[in-house]
Amino acid sequence: MNIYIPRKYHIKTFGCQANIADSGTLSGILESLGYEYSSVEDAENENLALIRTLSDVDLFVINTCSVRQKSEDKVYGIGKAVNHVQKEKGSRPFIVMAGCMVGSVTGERQRYEFDELRKKTPWVDLYINPSQIFDLPLKLQESHVLDEWAVQKFDPAGINSKQEDSRRAFVNISYGCDNFCTFCVVPYARGREVSRTEADILAEINHLVKRGKSEFTLCGQNVNSWGLSMSDKFEIRTGSDDKTPFADLLRKIHSLEEVEKIDFISSNPFDFTSDLIETLKLQKISNYLHIAVQSGNNDVLKKMNRRHSIEDFYSLVESIKQARPEIELGTDLIVGFPGETEEQFLDTIELVKKIKFNVAFIAMYSPRKGTPAQKFYPDDVPAKEKKRRHKLLTEAWKKSKDENN
Ligand code: SF4
Repeated sequence: MNIYIPRKYHIKTFGCQANIADSGTLSGILESLGYEYSSVEDAENENLALIRTLSDVDLFVINTCSVRQKSEDKVYGIGKAVNHVQKEKGSRPFIVMAGCMVGSVTGERQRYEFDELRKKTPWVDLYINPSQIFDLPLKLQESHVLDEWAVQKFDPAGINSKQEDSRRAFVNISYGCDNFCTFCVVPYARGREVSRTEADILAEINHLVKRGKSEFTLCGQNVNSWGLSMSDKFEIRTGSDDKTPFADLLRKIHSLEEVEKIDFISSNPFDFTSDLIETLKLQKISNYLHIAVQSGNNDVLKKMNRRHSIEDFYSLVESIKQARPEIELGTDLIVGFPGETEEQFLDTIELVKKIKFNVAFIAMYSPRKGTPAQKFYPDDVPAKEKKRRHKLLTEAWKKSKDENN
């Protein structure tokens, strides 16, 4: 059997900061195996750049996102470019699909059948889910694209995450989520919530510091619960005085001399303790805080299985502003969740008017296969009405933001 050794690779990343951090780790792994990064960007449009990159590399990794259908559709669209390259060149790179689309069909919380994904992506050669990143060398060897000696030399502990921005780096501190908000694919796509150890996180930060990074974004689906046991995680509540491991971790990173700025994302309102609020007073903690509220109405929040009420959120914001009056706040909001009435929607308008968020990501609800919302609640707010609510909420938010400035 002919074993060929690919030399150039490219990673196309979709989705959130957790995926950006994972792609940095994947790059570090591939470069430790002798691959070189390649990207052809001087093309008239994105599709041509994709085709040229596919023609140039030996290994093409797609780090996928499942949060929105649009993201998944873009991934399916890559197949056309792969087939085009195969036709024109007579060959194509080895294609690896990673990320949440794979996690959704292979993890223990499978959302739908793996075969369904395989049928839609016959041009993919290897699938790895988010918990298998460090198995990539072995899987490449099993697929005959990597020699055994390279895999034997591979040392996961020696991997340096590779990240583009000159000063800023994304560091995953936990993976997965156990919260099961009813609209969300993450608990399925990324599996159980697992915290990395403090030693691992600090070692990665120290590696990155040596490579000139000084600004760090700590990523996780709910960073607040980093390091907590399953039972503690569900007991800790906003407004409580419980000490949290995450607040301690922030203090430790803050004490590193070379670290100049620390961000964290995602944070949720349900377990933002006073201990964590205290850390916002630390000088190197970013002045921007993102806390996803999703809706301004308690019945909708309940249906979303969010563990906070709107009153919790208002009092949390008040405490945060007391700790750091100049802080800028960002959030995520969904309009048109199943059953959302006009009155309930108006509560969300009220919320943005009151809080005057500096940043708001406003999404129109779209059912994601296999989630509780998709299974149990009919998607009964018409598309036209979702668009209207999206427009109204965006206008109300922008107006409130301008008043704030
Ligand atoms: S906290 Fe909720 S919205 Fe965030 S990742 Fe977990 S399930 Fe999804």
